[in-house]
Amino acid sequence: MHVPQLPTAELHHPTRRQILAGTCTLAVAGAFGAPHAAAQAAPHRFRTGAAEVTLLSDGTMSAPLGWVLPDRSSAEIADALKPSGRTPGDFPLQVNVTLVRLGDALILIDAGSGPDFAPTRGKLADNLDKAGIKPDAITHVVFTHAHPDHLWGVIDPLDGGTMFPKAKHFLPAVERDYWLKPGVETTVPEAVRGGAIGTQRRLKELGDRIEITKAGTEILPGLALVDSAGHSPGHVCVHLRSGSDQLMIGGDALTEPVISFARPDWPWGADWDKDRAIASRKRLLDMLVTDKIPLVGYHLPWPGLGRVERAGTAYRFVQN
Ligand SMILES: [Zn+2]
Repeated sequence: MHVPQLPTAELHHPTRRQILAGTCTLAVAGAFGAPHAAAQAAPHRFRTGAAEVTLLSDGTMSAPLGWVLPDRSSAEIADALKPSGRTPGDFPLQVNVTLVRLGDALILIDAGSGPDFAPTRGKLADNLDKAGIKPDAITHVVFTHAHPDHLWGVIDPLDGGTMFPKAKHFLPAVERDYWLKPGVETTVPEAVRGGAIGTQRRLKELGDRIEITKAGTEILPGLALVDSAGHSPGHVCVHLRSGSDQLMIGGDALTEPVISFARPDWPWGADWDKDRAIASRKRLLDMLVTDKIPLVGYHLPWPGLGRVERAGTAYRFVQN
C-alpha cells in the first residue's frame, strides 16, 4: 500500500541545508492522519531458526476510506469491521520494515519512504541507527515492489546515491521494467499515480545497482521470493526458512488487519490488477494457514507480526 495521489510530494525537493538543519517542511504535511507512537517504537527482535529478525518502524500513515476501498459502501465496511470493534473511518497503517541477519548477511526487506514523502514517514534511518545498524553493514536490500513507501527510502537525499552503499539491491525484472516504461503514470491506478514518476526517477538513480530477480528465486539459502503479483506487477513476498522455523515477509499482499483476512476477495483501490491481487491474497492466506507460517505485514499494526487462522470461509489475523 502507498499514499494516495499526492503530486506535490514530488515537487518538493528539500535542499541539503534544510535536511541538515532538520527544517525541511513537506508540501504533503497534514495530508494524512496524526502520527502514531510506533514511529518511536524500539526495534522488535526475535529469532526464526538461526536467523535473527528485527522489525523497524519507518513511521505511520492513515489512509482515507474512499481511497482504500473505493468499491465498498461504508455499511459494508462497517459490517466487516464489526467483530473487531472498529468503525469505518480512516485506516491507520504502520510501516514495518524487516531486517534479517542470516549468517554473514544482513538483509533489509524494503527500504521505507525516505524523507521526501510525508512527515510521519521516513523514520527507518533513525530506527536503524537506534538498533545499532550502520547503513554500510547492510549486505542485501530486497524490494517486495517499487511503490514509494517501499522503495524511495533507498535513495540518499543528499547525493542521490543509495543509502546502503555496500548492499546488493534486488528487484523482480517485471517490477523494474514496468516502472521504467515511459508514461507509466498513465497505467497505474489513480490512487498511486502521484508516486509513479518519483519511483521511476529513483529506479533510474539506482541504475545497474539493481540486480534483476524473479519470483521463485532464492536470494540466499533459506530466503526465497514468492509470487504475489497483483498489488503491483511484480510484487513478491519473502519467505525465510531456517531449520524447522519459517517466516513470511508479506509486503503489501495483506495490508489491513481485519478486512484483508475476513474479506480477501474485496478489491483494493491501490491494487494494479485487482483480480490478480485477490488471487495472490487467497493463495498466500491458504499457504500461511496450511504451513503454519508466521507473517510480518508491512502495514499491519506494529510490529506487524502474527499468524493467520481460518475463520469460517475466510481468515483472521492473530497478532503476536
Ligand atoms: Zn505499501
